[in-house]
Amino acid sequence: MIPYGRQEISQADIDAVTEVLQSDFLTQGPKTPLFEQLIAHKVSAKHALAVNSATSALHIACLVLGVGKGDWLWTTPITFVASANCGLYCGAKVDFVDIDPRTYNLSPTALEQKLITAERDGKLPKVLVAVHLCGQPCDMEAIHKLSQRYGFKIIEDASHAIGGQYKGQYIGSGHYSDITVFSFHPVKIITTAEGGMAVTNNDQLAEKMNLYRSHGITREPHLMTHEPDGPWYYQQIELGYNYRMTELQSALGISQMERLDQYVARRHELANRYDQLLQNLPLTLPWQHPDSYSGRHLYVIRLTLDRLKKTHREIFEALRAEGIGVNLHYIPVHTQPHYQQMGFKRGDYPEAERYYQEAMSLPVFSAMTEQQQDKVVHVLKGILQV
Ligand SMILES: *Cc1c(COP(=O)(O)O)cnc(C)c1O
Repeated sequence: MIPYGRQEISQADIDAVTEVLQSDFLTQGPKTPLFEQLIAHKVSAKHALAVNSATSALHIACLVLGVGKGDWLWTTPITFVASANCGLYCGAKVDFVDIDPRTYNLSPTALEQKLITAERDGKLPKVLVAVHLCGQPCDMEAIHKLSQRYGFKIIEDASHAIGGQYKGQYIGSGHYSDITVFSFHPVKIITTAEGGMAVTNNDQLAEKMNLYRSHGITREPHLMTHEPDGPWYYQQIELGYNYRMTELQSALGISQMERLDQYVARRHELANRYDQLLQNLPLTLPWQHPDSYSGRHLYVIRLTLDRLKKTHREIFEALRAEGIGVNLHYIPVHTQPHYQQMGFKRGDYPEAERYYQEAMSLPVFSAMTEQQQDKVVHVLKGILQV
């Protein structure tokens, strides 16, 4: 099976992890701060905090932005459930904004409409999670403008987008948001097995996220309620979690970071090659906004079903049967049973639901060969019968 995504592990990665195994620190050593510095420097952010997943990063980002009971968190329905669940973890309520039919990202037009109604009803969101689907950044300038007018905070869920750029700046530079989150799950652009990072330019948010990722415990005298009792002393000043990244993971991340630009460039090569090879088929190929340099995490095609004799599901199953590991990103979150219980219905977000009926992610990953890609194209063309 040619998977839709897969990690690439080099000998240098293996050596880096092995070295940590033989060192003094398996966790809370020197590698994690180094990995954080590398990421912060790469994306031009002031602070970077490594955690054990992007989901944890989303959770602590919501906490430090003050999301709590009675608040609303808004996001797109076309995302992984974690982008919405982080609001529920904090006791907030979640609502969704329909997608743009061209980029499949949250639509700023739909957002503005929803904000007008929410203002009238006194239900404005506290936080918006802007998800850069497939690695293509959202229209952050428009979203940021609306945040100024309606007073909400912005988290960028850049789980797909490390190494990508928006208006010439690396995603994570924080010009249009409060906090940006990256994922290092093995299917993502670089990996630490499990792992995530939250980046911000705000000193207070960084300090608080640092507390929340490690039990709410501090050893900084300036944060304590009184002078330390002695050199052993720490204080728990918040209810935090154990969301720390291990030294093994950080060492792998540091090693992978050396190949980040190369990986994104390779993903662009493969995507451009798909664009060429899949022309003039009953498909919609991924449209790229001229303001963006995507991370190219996913290559999503949409089937033009009224020009095809097979159904979406038949085409999907036929591809899988021939060893092509297609996938679907994503099932609209509001149609998940857990969200249906909250009153969301089919039909609530028509663009998202139409996308779900037509979309398919073709394999794309840095180690993919042109022969593998040719096989995907050949099998797909055969199944589409064109
Ligand atoms: C993968 C992913 C996450 C969760 O990342 P983890 O590191 O697995 O917790 C969140 N949001 C999006 C959009 C993702 O693709």
